[in-house]
Amino acid sequence: MNPKYTCPKCKASMSLTTLSKEYPIAGAAFAVTMPAYVCPEDGTWIVTNEVSQEIDRRAVRAIATQGPATGKTLRYMHGFLQLKGTELAAMLGVAPETLSRWESEAMPLNPLAWVTVAAMVLDKLEGRAVTTKQLRASVGGERSAIPIEVRL
Ligand SMILES: [Zn+2]
Repeated sequence: MNPKYTCPKCKASMSLTTLSKEYPIAGAAFAVTMPAYVCPEDGTWIVTNEVSQEIDRRAVRAIATQGPATGKTLRYMHGFLQLKGTELAAMLGVAPETLSRWESEAMPLNPLAWVTVAAMVLDKLEGRAVTTKQLRASVGGERSAIPIEVRL
């Protein structure tokens, strides 16, 4: 239940504590409080993959909700969506090169594209696909033969 970790630097036994650290995620400042294994000798700290993934989920939610809207945060959100560059670019109606230039900050990003990707991130966190469906609908095409049902 409480695995033992040895320090990768000095091999001392690490102990589980609650650690607060300030560090940037996708270029944005974060103050993270997390369970971590800390070396009593040199302060080296590590977190489990589970904790690391949960930090990512919380960070991507915070970024999608409040920004900052930058190329770095766009790239971070893109990574969370696990979509190929070509797939996401097509959904946004831009060339893959354009998406790549936004993410590398070689070109000012389109704020509406950032907001769209943020909405996709929040959808994924909630287990729904509203924005993806809206994007498909916005490029037209598939019209259902079944009438849209409205019940009061
Ligand atoms: Zn150590």
